[in-house]
Amino acid sequence: MQTEAVYQCCIHPQCRNSSDLSDTTFRCKRCGSLMDVCYDWNRLPIPKKLSEFEAKWSRRYDPLDYSGVWRFRELFPFARPEQILTVGEGQTILQQANGIAEYVGLNPGCLFLQYEGMNPSGSFKDNGMTAAFTHARMVGARRAACASTGNTSASLAMYCAASQTMKAIIFIGSGKISYGKLAQALDHGALTVQIAGDFDDALTRVQQVSAQLGIYLVNSINPFRLEGQKTIMYRILEGLRWEVPDWIVVPGGNLGNVSSFGKAFVELFELGLIPRLPKLAVINAAGAHTFYQLHDRQQVRWQSGQLDQAKIENYFKQMDSNQDRANTLASAIEINRPVNLPKALRALERCGGVVREATDQEMLDAKARVAMGGFGCEPASGASVAGAKRLCQEGIIAKSDRVVCILTGHALKDPNITIAYHATDPKMFEEVLGKRGVRRAMFANRAIQVSNDLDEIIKAIEVFTS
Ligand SMILES: *Cc1c(COP(=O)(O)O)cnc(C)c1O
Ligand SMILES: [Zn+2]
Repeated sequence: MQTEAVYQCCIHPQCRNSSDLSDTTFRCKRCGSLMDVCYDWNRLPIPKKLSEFEAKWSRRYDPLDYSGVWRFRELFPFARPEQILTVGEGQTILQQANGIAEYVGLNPGCLFLQYEGMNPSGSFKDNGMTAAFTHARMVGARRAACASTGNTSASLAMYCAASQTMKAIIFIGSGKISYGKLAQALDHGALTVQIAGDFDDALTRVQQVSAQLGIYLVNSINPFRLEGQKTIMYRILEGLRWEVPDWIVVPGGNLGNVSSFGKAFVELFELGLIPRLPKLAVINAAGAHTFYQLHDRQQVRWQSGQLDQAKIENYFKQMDSNQDRANTLASAIEINRPVNLPKALRALERCGGVVREATDQEMLDAKARVAMGGFGCEPASGASVAGAKRLCQEGIIAKSDRVVCILTGHALKDPNITIAYHATDPKMFEEVLGKRGVRRAMFANRAIQVSNDLDEIIKAIEVFTS
């Protein structure tokens, strides 16, 4: 193990526990908090300016410099190059989106979309999975497991298949996974365990099973996932010619992303590589709004690690006694108890920021508008654009702020919802969306029915396109 990288308890100033990277429980032995991966930067070669990373582009023949994750490896140096498993993840770029800016309420030139659906398995999860996998190889793991709403399992299954040495075991809740994602896990050969319950139940079980059988766990309690996901922020900075945007807007599920993004910016700031921190906005689904409730309604704060644990426990108890379970069409963020809650609170405290919720209606309309702007994303990704729109309406985001919305997953992950949204047959709309509270499709694009007759076809096309 490289000694410049260690685990540190995430409430380090209070607990001060630290250990080497061989442990795979990812929890502090002293207080049970999640661990961070931390570096002794003084003993490591750090670039003087972020623009030095541009030199990597001339070395694209080297898979580590081709990867949009590993070409930034000096900023999460826990592995030796020969230990790294890459499949060319992170080839994603920041794109300006003026039509969508207008929809959100921003000035032209102010909205940027970071389209992480471009990753090999079709979601941002690959950024973190390549890092977790690399650590799994460092500790000699032969089996890796996760509980998943879909994308984590698709990514895990892909890396296991690519490694040729590791076996994937995935836990999914019943009826809670979209077909695109399940198809990937099955196709890549993952052992798929469907349990009667939801994501939170599956996550509890996978932790028990992994501990008992010594299986490597890759859910986002795994801090190496968060290390890899930091590179999404580095690529955003690169896209802005190394300038810091005003806002990063991201959907919130288990809160791994926002935790990772906060860590990325704080580290760059402390290393003197950026002059200021952006604000972070996390968007929950209205049907899975634990973080919104705790942070913005009940004012739960990080407070340097002295967070109000009783208030949080109380909230969860109340949820249980009300049988209040997460329920949203955005299945990727249908989560009751986000495991990275403390780290996410830390990120919001360090960077400043807010949490908002978006309804399924708002997410699906935003997703359709985003698609009309040329970016195909899945329902959960619509949350960031819907949330940015809401924050503009509230005046929290100014029209002239530079805003980056993360599009977390690819459109083809969940075609059923998209087809129902554009359905010509109202029964189909009702069955998939109406029953779940969606009333209308603001950007519906309905297929037209024409008889098999050349004149009729030509007439129809003229009517609809002239
Ligand atoms: C996993 C996932 C999320 C949630 O990310 P967290 O880091 O768990 O908050 C959002 N969108 C998509 C498409 C995902 O796959
Ligand atoms: Zn501790």
